[in-house]
Amino acid sequence: IDFNNASFKDFENIESKTIDYKANHFSDYLDHLHSQGKLNYRLTSFDGCKSEINIQIPYFKKNLNVISFVSNDYLGLTQNEEVKQAVIDAITKFGTGSAASPAIGGHFIYHEELEKKLSLFFKGEDTILFNTGYTANSSTFQALLNKEDIAILDMAVHASIYEGCQLTNVKTFLHNNMEMLERVLSSVQYKYRTKMIIVDGVYSQDGDIAKLDEIIILAKKYGAMIAVDDAHGIGVVGKTGRGVVEIFDAFDKIDLFVGTLSKAIGNLGGFVVGKKNVIRYLKFQAKQHLFSTTSTPAIAGALKALEIIENNTLYKDVLWSNINYFKKNLTQNGFDIGSPSSAVIPVKIGDINNTLIVGKLLLERGIHANPIMYPAVAKKDARIRFNLTANHSPTQLDKVISALNEINQIIPIKKINDRVKY
Ligand code: PMP
Repeated sequence: IDFNNASFKDFENIESKTIDYKANHFSDYLDHLHSQGKLNYRLTSFDGCKSEINIQIPYFKKNLNVISFVSNDYLGLTQNEEVKQAVIDAITKFGTGSAASPAIGGHFIYHEELEKKLSLFFKGEDTILFNTGYTANSSTFQALLNKEDIAILDMAVHASIYEGCQLTNVKTFLHNNMEMLERVLSSVQYKYRTKMIIVDGVYSQDGDIAKLDEIIILAKKYGAMIAVDDAHGIGVVGKTGRGVVEIFDAFDKIDLFVGTLSKAIGNLGGFVVGKKNVIRYLKFQAKQHLFSTTSTPAIAGALKALEIIENNTLYKDVLWSNINYFKKNLTQNGFDIGSPSSAVIPVKIGDINNTLIVGKLLLERGIHANPIMYPAVAKKDARIRFNLTANHSPTQLDKVISALNEINQIIPIKKINDRVKY
């Protein structure tokens, strides 16, 4: 494997090689990235999710103070005093763990209240909690869909959805391409018991949103169900922070709503909202729910966070003023950001190697943002992803623009300069 053009995925299955061979070869690849300062993966952060943090990356051999753009704490609620207090109160009252799976006694009052709250908030009949958003997806689709069914996925959906669909039939359509979705739907129309279209609300790498209005029309026409995972939309988009489904006023037109508590809600966990008996079925059939210890009382912080999202738009307003400011400046400076409509803003570079180098040059300039590459995005579509939060300031965003302009002198990353004139 050519280390300069490789990605993690290339090491998943090296034909007819033993586990030791694969692992050793992969380890050599990681050392190669490290030696060039291209691997800022698994760095150590000393300040949690704040916008300015002190980090340690082995290659730099010293601690760095950086502005962080890697957190999904979009509203800054992990740092909110009321949310922190709710967590402290719950731990004081209930202890630090729940120590049993839900069916055998680990379902406590704060789980019950949170499920009720999420059902109301996302306008569904009932809700099931999972310990992560990842398992919400992987477990739910595994429990609901089998060989008689088919999952029709936007190619850009999260890895956990692909994992959940391993036991069923799968067809994909190009990201947000509605003609292709229709072609797939018509080709499978009479072949399967259940056809389920599964999309993200906000897409985690491009920051753009699902065309839910068109998807709903197509689902109706071809008799398909719809599941939406809006991990990145909750708290960020929609008039009252209920995500992409709110934008389309479509909670009654979709079948399953999947969310995470781990991003704008500032906690840890995942959930699925849907019809009463479907959720009841999942509570007994979704293995990662049934056989896994329930979340800790700290999850009570999510209840407080939802209350804040519902009653106080201040954090969302500050976030959006950051988003609009950053997008405008990046575009005016000639960077290619695609068309994000959320707090996820990619600066597209293309080549994997160049993207890793830009990541390193940004770190050297005190900016920490993640290089994103294959298999998370297509091979020639690598980018640096900036996640904005309500805790960023315009001054911090200005620093990014200056750094990118400077780096562009070393590695040309501006792409739309020639096409768009301001
Ligand atoms: N869905 C999407 C679209 C995501 O981006 C993520 C997180 N990266 C998840 C699900 C998983 O959520 P969690 O981090 O809570 O496991």
